[in-house]
Amino acid sequence: MSEQLLGRIHSFESFGTVDGPGIRFVVFMQGCPMRCLYCHNPDTWKIGSGGDVYSVDDVFNQIMKYKNYIKKGGVTISGGEPLVQIEFVTELLKRLKAQGLHTAVDTSGITFVKNSAATLAKFDALLEVTDLFLLDVKHIDPVKHKALTGKENKNPQDFMQYLADHNKSVWIRYVLVPGYSDDEHDIEALHTYLSRYRNIEKIEVLPYHTMGIAKYQNLNIPYPLEGVQKPSKEVIDRTKEILGVKSHANK
Ligand code: SF4
Repeated sequence: MSEQLLGRIHSFESFGTVDGPGIRFVVFMQGCPMRCLYCHNPDTWKIGSGGDVYSVDDVFNQIMKYKNYIKKGGVTISGGEPLVQIEFVTELLKRLKAQGLHTAVDTSGITFVKNSAATLAKFDALLEVTDLFLLDVKHIDPVKHKALTGKENKNPQDFMQYLADHNKSVWIRYVLVPGYSDDEHDIEALHTYLSRYRNIEKIEVLPYHTMGIAKYQNLNIPYPLEGVQKPSKEVIDRTKEILGVKSHANK
């Protein structure tokens, strides 16, 4: 029963414009197993505690108040890592799709395990009700991926393949961090990797920023990228050029 399915939610944004097409209601789920050095939402990390507890009904009813504003955009479930709570997300999106709303999920794919039948069944159900995946590709190099996020990139890459096999629409998001994810050889390797997939509709390069520093101070966590500056316009432009951002853009 959907009424009994509960989820931990960090926050909501009623008029989001950067997480998918059009004006969107964005749900930021609590909990993430990654520890990206550049993460600007460390307050979403805790799994099983933190955030506020809502039923699917609660969230659905809240979103419905904005239906007229988001009917040409849609709803995006972000985080944290939203698929830590995949059953809740799937049930919520199922109800939103039944209202004719466009649905998107912003994920790293880290919770995808391709050899687990139980996991695949959950992801198959999710795909049924998700129009678009915003896939956060953290790094193409396995060693640098682990250094940057604390996790290996096997599950995310398996998830990309799974989305391609199911011909699901994907927008790639890549955070450009000076000294960590801006090496031209890595960007070229990333381009080669992404070029295999015909289901990628768009690539977004997101320049690293320092707006999350205050949250680290509030949580008393040392900021891991102390002293790292934003990437220069030249590096951003060069990265976009290598990744062929314009040729992938669909809006
Ligand atoms: S996956 Fe997202 S929420 Fe999780 S640590 Fe990385 S940037 Fe933060």
